[in-house]
Amino acid sequence: MIRMNLLGLPRPIHPKDSKNTAAMAIEPINGFSTVTIPLDMQVGPGCESIVKKGDHVNVGQLLGEPKGPWSVPVHSSVSGTVKSISDQILSDGTHAEYVTIESDGLDTPCPDIAPPQVTDKASFLAAIRASGLVGLGGAAFPVHIKLDPPPGKTIDTLIVNAAECEPYLTVDHRICLEGAEDAVEGALAVARWCGIGKVIFGIEDNKKEAAKSLKEAIRELKDHPHMPEGGVEVKVLPTSYPTGAEKVLIRLLNGRVVPEGGLPADVGVIVQNVTTLHFLSRYLKTGMPLIKKAITLDGSAVKKPGNFLVPIGSAIADVIEKAGGTRSEPAKIIMGGPMMGVAVDDISRPILKHNNGILVLDEQDAVLPMESACILCGRCIRACPMRLLPMALDKAARANNPGELQDRHVMNCIECGSCSFVCPAKRYLVQNIRFGKTLVRQAAASRGKGGKS
Ligand code: SF4
Ligand code: SF4
Repeated sequence: MIRMNLLGLPRPIHPKDSKNTAAMAIEPINGFSTVTIPLDMQVGPGCESIVKKGDHVNVGQLLGEPKGPWSVPVHSSVSGTVKSISDQILSDGTHAEYVTIESDGLDTPCPDIAPPQVTDKASFLAAIRASGLVGLGGAAFPVHIKLDPPPGKTIDTLIVNAAECEPYLTVDHRICLEGAEDAVEGALAVARWCGIGKVIFGIEDNKKEAAKSLKEAIRELKDHPHMPEGGVEVKVLPTSYPTGAEKVLIRLLNGRVVPEGGLPADVGVIVQNVTTLHFLSRYLKTGMPLIKKAITLDGSAVKKPGNFLVPIGSAIADVIEKAGGTRSEPAKIIMGGPMMGVAVDDISRPILKHNNGILVLDEQDAVLPMESACILCGRCIRACPMRLLPMALDKAARANNPGELQDRHVMNCIECGSCSFVCPAKRYLVQNIRFGKTLVRQAAASRGKGGKS
């Protein structure tokens, strides 16, 4: 029998939060000699290059034009000379064009940079798109699409996700401490131009100072002309995992349940990450597009853990080096946190728009536990926030059975890793479920081409 918590949700889990860098201010790192910027850093199609080898570019200059309505542009994070435009394989096996720029060390801003003119929802969404903004909490979903739900959906609440439940990561926490007014103003701008009547910030109770900082900013801005009718509030939630998962957060904050296969807009909600809104506010004031990203650098092999603001496209290896280097041989590097992050196959990979952390683990921490047979204990079922049967999905993925995977709603998996975390047999559940999703996508693509599977 599945035991539920008081909200009727499966039981959240409590991995060690390891927020070692929570007290460390975001420190800019500059002086990278080269950046390599992929033209595809988002959900949906990326960009096509509009620069060529030998071109001089400035900071904030457009490098790629969007390929479709979902795409957002990509901009240069340094000034310098385009050295090459090449096709490369991303960590997930897909291809993207990369623009490699040799920096001139001057960081000259593009002269065209100016705050956007916003007069209505359409110009607001156009400005957001022009900024190159995607969800900075890790999702990389284009923000201009998320803020423009399909006709017939009435949005009454903007939820600002400041939960940052992923262990190790503290960038959102620092943004709340160092830039709370901008984060709140970003939320007010969304509420104003998208006609949303209420804003709720959701944050966990292991970030009390950050919650206080947000509350103070809201008090300071109480007479702001864009303050929504329903106000702006901060709700502090018990620390657990995965509180920051969109559908879980909505349920915890206002009790609404997003239907299976549905979107938050189906229950009148839009969710945006707090760092996304902080960037949005800065962009509306300065016009500087998304060219830098704050990341948490941590893990057992890192000499100087901390939070750093780095140019998008800077190599992970260079970031680690400039931040103080390593104290032991790195055995595994993860983009993101330990629960939802993705192992990096090559240390020269660039920092992407939606990267929020780099974990560098030594040999001891990188060891994968040995799997043993499933003992049908049901712990993975109790831990799954999406009410899936992880052990059954695991079995179907290992059996290469896309039909079974689809019947068991594998695409609803949010890849939170809770099932793997609680499994006493150390089954590689989330890895196999990710693979299972690929099988379902391949089967769908094959059907689209007239295939049978
Ligand atoms: S938690 Fe692990 S051992 Fe238990 S049912 Fe799930 S897969 Fe099997
Ligand atoms: S990774 Fe997927 S299957 Fe596993 S607990 Fe999270 S949502 Fe459920």
